Amino acid sequence: MSRSTSTHSHSGRAGDGAPTEDLHVTIAQRLRGDGLRYTGSRRKVVEVLAATDRPLTIPEILEQADGLAQSSAYRNLTELIGVGVVHRIVSGDEFSHFELAEDLTSHHHHLVCTRCGRVTDFTVDDELEAALDAALDAAARRQGFEPEHHRLDVGGRCADCR
Ligand SMILES: [Zn+2]
Ligand SMILES: [Zn+2]
Repeated sequence: MSRSTSTHSHSGRAGDGAPTEDLHVTIAQRLRGDGLRYTGSRRKVVEVLAATDRPLTIPEILEQADGLAQSSAYRNLTELIGVGVVHRIVSGDEFSHFELAEDLTSHHHHLVCTRCGRVTDFTVDDELEAALDAALDAAARRQGFEPEHHRLDVGGRCADCR
């Protein structure tokens, strides 16, 4: 089972708020493959998601994307999900959360607060990732399934809600 080992790491996301031009080139190519242009509003959504260190809800995206209409945000997110640029995290609360796809960023997991709905990224060390892969690989293959990647989110109460 292989994990995403992209060179775009989270360390480049959180601080400077300026994703590399490579990211935009890759995204423009994916959109073009589906006959879509990388419009200003699509790029605005991507820039907001690239500048944060956790998945965001639509209200949070609108707050940070200056002048973006709610209807465009919905449409752009749907299109970006369709071409594999954005991933939707279903956390069971009223708001979906959105983030850039792992192959554009880096492999990580989520802490999902079941009370306030906040979703936070977290990583585990390589040793634990390898152990998880081995255990999940064995379990999947027992079902005749060929695993390619894993997603693992942890539900519970965040520090504020405990
Ligand atoms: Zn919470
Ligand atoms: Zn993992």
